[in-house]
Amino acid sequence: MEAEATGFVEDQGRIAGVRLADGREIRADKLVLMADGRGSLVRKLNMLAVNQLGAPMDVFWFHLPKAPHDGEVLRGAIDTGHMAILIDRRDYWQAAFLIPKGSAEEVKARGMGWLRDQFAALFPELDLSGGLGSTDDLFLLSVALDRLECWHRPGLLAIGDAAHAMSPIGGIGINLAIQDAVAAANALAAPLAGGEHVDSILQRVQKRREWPTRVIQRGQKLAQDNIIGAVLSGRPITRAPWPVRMLDRFPLLRRVPGRIIGLGVRRERVESPKV
Ligand SMILES: Cc1cc2nc3c(=O)[nH]c(=O)nc-3n(C[C@H](O)[C@H](O)[C@H](O)COP(=O)(O)OP(=O)(O)OC[C@H]3O[C@@H](n4cnc5c(N)ncnc54)[C@H](O)[C@@H]3O)c2cc1C
Repeated sequence: MEAEATGFVEDQGRIAGVRLADGREIRADKLVLMADGRGSLVRKLNMLAVNQLGAPMDVFWFHLPKAPHDGEVLRGAIDTGHMAILIDRRDYWQAAFLIPKGSAEEVKARGMGWLRDQFAALFPELDLSGGLGSTDDLFLLSVALDRLECWHRPGLLAIGDAAHAMSPIGGIGINLAIQDAVAAANALAAPLAGGEHVDSILQRVQKRREWPTRVIQRGQKLAQDNIIGAVLSGRPITRAPWPVRMLDRFPLLRRVPGRIIGLGVRRERVESPKV
């Protein structure tokens, strides 16, 4: 815990452990499981090839004060060129302001007055006094959408964002990461407990989890390209995309995205035996 891995220990072409920032080595004779997110060491050290799917936006996160009468659980607002979301955290709003990819410094240079004006226009009912004081309060999250071509090599398996960086769209990346972990446990726990070498079965985890990842990333890419990219580029949206119009017209259909977001497209249940 609280130890940064900065490199790998290799033994005759196999990954055999990690090297820590303080110089120590931790050895793993069977498997190093990389669950270290979008900035994974396997990416930093170019150990496994990454396919970029592209993301048109980055996100500034910050807190906004919330009045008791503000109500509602989640709010979003779109205007030509701008998009923002407020998540209810009971005593404050967690605010996300979407900006075109790579434009963080330009947006900061416009100043907090400019940002306050955008929020006042998007959410006219909000009382913004006491919020948006300094650019130091803005936390930049760089959005990525990509996946590794191969999630493993001898001695190492990547899961979660390390294997497939997810966009925030749908708030579904954590579900996928946990489902990967369950699938990995189902495939590997018993052989590892029995002292077996697992290199030859690592591809089973990718085989099981790659399809749901592709489906969800495809949905995120469609939303990025047709809605978010279009809004942030400043093109006026005169008509909602057809899937959105269908959801609007047939309320029962709204259960479908709810189900996909909540449960995923391939559900995982813990099946590995207690060891
Ligand atoms: C702006 C934004 C908003 C998002 N919002 C949502 C949301 O609302 N809901 C949702 O489901 N998904 C959301 N996502 C996606 C979600 O964050 C990821 O898909 C999910 O966190 C992936 O989980 P993970 O465990 O694979 O990686 P992470 O959650 O990134 O965890 C990786 C862990 O590894 C640690 N680590 C990294 N490098 C090292 C190292 N070298 N040594 C030791 N430890 C290390 C990190 O400290 C971290 O604890 C969002 C993504 C973005 C960019």
